[in-house]
Amino acid sequence: MEPKQIKIALAGNPNSGKTTLFNKLTGSRQRIGNWPGVTIEKKEGTIKGHKHVTVQDLPGIYSLSPYTPEEEISRNYLLEEEPDVILNIIDSSNLERNLYLTTQLLELDIPVVVALNFIDVSRRDGHKIDSRKLETRLGCPVIETSALKGEGVDKCVACCIGAAEGDEQHGRAKKAGASFDAGVEQAIKDIESVIGETTPKRRRWVASKAFERDEKALVGLSLTALQKETIESIIRRAEEKLDDDSESIITAARYAAIKKLTDNVIVRAKRKDNLTRSDRIDRIVTHRFWAYPIFIAVMAVLYYIAISLGINTQDMVDGWFGDGLIPLVQDWMEGLGASGWLIGLVTDGVIGGVGAVLSFVPQMIILFILLGIMEDIGYMARIAFILDRLFRRFGLSGKSFIPMLIGTGCSVPGIMASRTIESQRDRRMTIINTPMIPCGAKLPIIALVAGAVFGGAWWVAPLTYFLGLFAVIISGIILKKTKIFQGEPSPFVMELPAYHVPSVGNVARSTWERSWSFIKRAGTIILLSSVVLWFLLHFAVVDGSLVMIEDDMIADSIAAKIGAVLGNLFAPLGFGGWQASLATVTGLIAKEEVISTFGVIFRIEDALDIVEEANYAGVAAIAQHFTQLSAFSFMLFNLFCPPCFAAMGAIKREMNSAKWTWFAIGYLFIFAYILSFIVYQIGLLFTGGAFSILSGLAVILLAGSLYLLFRKPRAGVLVSA
Ligand code: GDP
Ligand code: MG
Repeated sequence: MEPKQIKIALAGNPNSGKTTLFNKLTGSRQRIGNWPGVTIEKKEGTIKGHKHVTVQDLPGIYSLSPYTPEEEISRNYLLEEEPDVILNIIDSSNLERNLYLTTQLLELDIPVVVALNFIDVSRRDGHKIDSRKLETRLGCPVIETSALKGEGVDKCVACCIGAAEGDEQHGRAKKAGASFDAGVEQAIKDIESVIGETTPKRRRWVASKAFERDEKALVGLSLTALQKETIESIIRRAEEKLDDDSESIITAARYAAIKKLTDNVIVRAKRKDNLTRSDRIDRIVTHRFWAYPIFIAVMAVLYYIAISLGINTQDMVDGWFGDGLIPLVQDWMEGLGASGWLIGLVTDGVIGGVGAVLSFVPQMIILFILLGIMEDIGYMARIAFILDRLFRRFGLSGKSFIPMLIGTGCSVPGIMASRTIESQRDRRMTIINTPMIPCGAKLPIIALVAGAVFGGAWWVAPLTYFLGLFAVIISGIILKKTKIFQGEPSPFVMELPAYHVPSVGNVARSTWERSWSFIKRAGTIILLSSVVLWFLLHFAVVDGSLVMIEDDMIADSIAAKIGAVLGNLFAPLGFGGWQASLATVTGLIAKEEVISTFGVIFRIEDALDIVEEANYAGVAAIAQHFTQLSAFSFMLFNLFCPPCFAAMGAIKREMNSAKWTWFAIGYLFIFAYILSFIVYQIGLLFTGGAFSILSGLAVILLAGSLYLLFRKPRAGVLVSA
């Protein structure tokens, strides 16, 4: 007989080790992050050695009250998919807070198995935890685990299967868990009897949610008006008696119950100086003043290493393509008697376009390794914490910075991580601003400009990172002062994970995941668009008919014509040439396209000796098309303008509204345009240009922007420092 399918749901607070345990259970390799927002979608896997048992990794939640979209995903899953057993993983070094969720899970009438995780840490710190006592009080199995070291994992599996099959010995959750003070208990019992027949299942849970006035829990119950009224009067009576609103009453009752549950369960070791090593490091790293210079120094070093190490590797890869592969392919194709245009298509179009992008891959990999290390050590979580403290004063929440920090790799997961934010206004604002942080694909643009126009100066790349951060802040403040986005910043509570030595596996996994998507894109979309671009560069419309043209005529090509039209739009920003305009627009496909477009165009021009001494990635060629000022303006626009299609798609999914998607795209375009315009036009004045209508306009726009930035917040947005 086939064994019955068993579904295990893995639930717990953020950072309790769910994904680590999930990977151990299933042998899969999900991304592990030690900050919230990494697992935002549920993931399913099959337990190793038990084909009939699946496990579902749910997003981290603190409670079953759906305040955030993640809490809603997890709650809906538990209620609607009816897993056979809930494996609730809790952090033993933070027992009370974690049990807040556990006591709610126990009300769902689904068997619960508790994994008391981080047991290695608790032991190391000398805390004594009596898990048997906790087990008796909770009325469900409690297993000591270390997801990191694999301890207790098999026992969890056995226990979950036992509980799902209703095995008494493994303890199907008995009626236990948290019981509340008499007053609250009575009110819930009264509601239970009112909803009576209407709710065959989970009566207690529904009743306690009804007591909190949680509308969503009552949907689909078809309560009569009279029942609803009776419930309301029960709630009101309890509120009067206990002198608080019902939601706070339940919260307080839950914590009181947890206090009883944990009484004598945990005996904490006394520390000599009461500070862990992490605490001591944090005294400096999150210090009120020193935190900022340290942050700046860390990021500067990160980008410095990525770019300067990268420049050497880039030359090397460039060499492979330019001096190695291209002549080889050319000889080979000539030998086969291929026609000239086909050779051009392959060498200039394909190898030029794709190679230009690939030559930046080593740089990206270095950056991703460094970011991965910072993340795994636990420093990224500190950055969010530090930034929160600073920007709360401007009405911005640290919660908004986590998506942006994740966006340093790629905007798409960054935008998706905005789901951790409860307030819809703040979530929308974060989605709009996240693409401004330079993602990995923008790194080549920065490297190109830094290398070509600023002589490889080390400070250009870190500077652009901080410019990105700065732009986000400015834009955030401006948006926050408008009517649409005003409001208190979202509260931000974040556990700072203990620092630990980065694990090679974790860093390798995150680096691979991020880099692979670039390599994949180079082989697909970049390849395809390079071919299309090559054709557009080699066809022209002459006397109404389409004709193929020689390399030295590309200035008449369709591509050049399109670029020239677009150039009218970008001329006031300083880069109206057809090449740069075309590159900017192809950048919407993917940000690497900017580089690959230059790659194709300059390969052709290079071969014609239009550009002296150019390598085909265009590092030297680009200098011919720009002044320092216009290159800077070009870079700014490309950093802040609407992101690539993939990111726009993510915006659309997360906004879930056409109106807001267009708002985001329009806003980013206008923001980038105005910024580049002001920088270029006012920059011209400083570099000896004459005052013109455009510079007048720039001054007006600057004044207007400053007004939007510094005006008083609207009434009701007074923010607490
Ligand atoms: P999630 O947010 O619940 O999915 O948590 P993760 O699985 O991403 O883990 C958060 C961090 O805690 C990671 O850095 C893990 O390596 C670490 N971790 C997880 N479980 C344990 C454990 O039992 N012991 C120790 N020492 N570290 C753990
Ligand atoms: Mg996770």
